[in-house]
Amino acid sequence: MESRGNEHVDVLIVGAGLSGIGAACHLRRDCPQKSFAILEAREASGGTWDLFRYPGVRSDSDMFTLGYRFRPWQEAKAIADGPAILGYIRATARDHGIEEAIRYRCRAVSAEWSSDDARWTVEVRRGDEPEPEWITCSFLYLNTGYYRYDEGFTPHFEGLERFGGRVVHPQHWPEDLDYAGKRVVVVGSGATAVTLVPAMAEKAGHVTMLQRSPTYIVSMPAHDAIADFLRRRLPAEVAYPIVRWKNVLLAVLMYQASRRSPEVVKRLIRSGVEKALPAGYDVATHFTPAYDPWDQRLCLVPDGDLFKAICRGDVSVVTDRIVTFTERGLLLASRAELEADVVVTATGLNISLMGGMELRLDGEKVDLSKTIGYKGVMFSGLPNLAATIGYTNASWTLKADLAAGYVCRLLNSMDEHGDAIATPRAPAPSEPTRPFMDLTSGYVLRSIDQMPKQGSRRPWRLHQNYPRDLLVLRYGTVDDGEIDFSPAGGRPAELVG
Ligand SMILES: Cc1cc2nc3c(=O)[nH]c(=O)nc-3n(C[C@H](O)[C@H](O)[C@H](O)COP(=O)(O)OP(=O)(O)OC[C@H]3O[C@@H](n4cnc5c(N)ncnc54)[C@H](O)[C@@H]3O)c2cc1C
Repeated sequence: MESRGNEHVDVLIVGAGLSGIGAACHLRRDCPQKSFAILEAREASGGTWDLFRYPGVRSDSDMFTLGYRFRPWQEAKAIADGPAILGYIRATARDHGIEEAIRYRCRAVSAEWSSDDARWTVEVRRGDEPEPEWITCSFLYLNTGYYRYDEGFTPHFEGLERFGGRVVHPQHWPEDLDYAGKRVVVVGSGATAVTLVPAMAEKAGHVTMLQRSPTYIVSMPAHDAIADFLRRRLPAEVAYPIVRWKNVLLAVLMYQASRRSPEVVKRLIRSGVEKALPAGYDVATHFTPAYDPWDQRLCLVPDGDLFKAICRGDVSVVTDRIVTFTERGLLLASRAELEADVVVTATGLNISLMGGMELRLDGEKVDLSKTIGYKGVMFSGLPNLAATIGYTNASWTLKADLAAGYVCRLLNSMDEHGDAIATPRAPAPSEPTRPFMDLTSGYVLRSIDQMPKQGSRRPWRLHQNYPRDLLVLRYGTVDDGEIDFSPAGGRPAELVG
């Protein structure tokens, strides 16, 4: 393909959220010789932490692991609210001089790889401009998150148009929504629902969490006592990695215990919930999922805020199915009717990997589902391309940091050896593959067939395990025999499938 780019950068980062800004900081530090730019579709940086504005929006993993490895989290709370996280991301961009590299209102729409030129040509839409712009890059680094920004997921609800109240989705929170003293129903039981419910209960008349099925919910102190102790005595640069590792290991232990002894972990979680709720509360119906812990993401609630709101009588939980919306609220399968002034559909996200971009290799459209993730960072058959896809069982940033460090090592190693192209080879077609994400959550299952696969052995297998990934990504050899390195002009390896 003839190159249409009128501008070239060594590395093009797509997305100026938590990951894209972290990636740029790594590049600036570890590959100072590389030019880069960041394309951001929105008018602001911060991604998730700027988009979501619902009451109480907060992290559901601790900030010592959701924070960047290179920038200690210094605020008081370990479970932080959205604005504090956004402030942290933006301060990082500012302090590392990244802000100037971000091009706002620039959406990357498609990218085509040319083997002859050893570069990607990226089609960019700037705001509402009718004509695209083109930019070429030697390495395309996608930090586009994992869901669609324009539209959250709402299942079809019968009779929705009849409802006389207001229906809102947490992804598009209306600034003017006044729910003080009102009857609110939050539909859902995931991280967003369990965050929203106690936060809205502070002002609402009453909040009902209406769930089809329960989720595992674990209370966690909003303040980390060990972290606070260490931070009072040690410089931030010393205390932060200690606390980070403590939390990494705790999360790994919890996850491994859930996989190996699910019955024990189920009992532990259940007894925590029973202790937090009034005697005789129907924990079996409302807080005992049918699946094992970590088949789906576990929800954390800081200082048991959800349980406290239930104890106060501000919140009730209903486990039932919606038959239809009515004029006054919701009719349920049990024939009960839930009256509501406001219904919040905390029903999830629409997954979108690679920022919804269409990728082509020398004119041929890439079918992502035919690729296999390499070290959870690159993909079989896709030259000079990396994407940040964080952990599902631990903080996203742990993986994002490792991925960024790896990309820098790869780029430096290519420079050292005079290589222009790095393409992960596909494992043999006879080798078994499995889905890229091993969660059974609805949002994953709805899009699993469009996602890449993972392989059955290192480096194609995704372990979702920070210490293991650390060994591979930070300390493993770059040229591990699974990547084709070539000077410009080499053809990419065949896609599998
Ligand atoms: C409500 C909520 C709470 C969460 N809480 C946690 C938590 O506690 N812990 C945790 O580990 N994870 C959490 N997550 C997951 C969270 O998304 C990640 O932690 C992290 O914010 C992801 O950062 P990111 O930069 O990779 O993606 P995002 O934050 O999604 O940012 C991606 C950016 O890329 C831009 N973009 C996308 N496509 C394009 C394109 N084609 N062209 C140009 N720009 C594009 C977007 O506009 C956006 O700015 C949460 C997610 C949600 C929705």
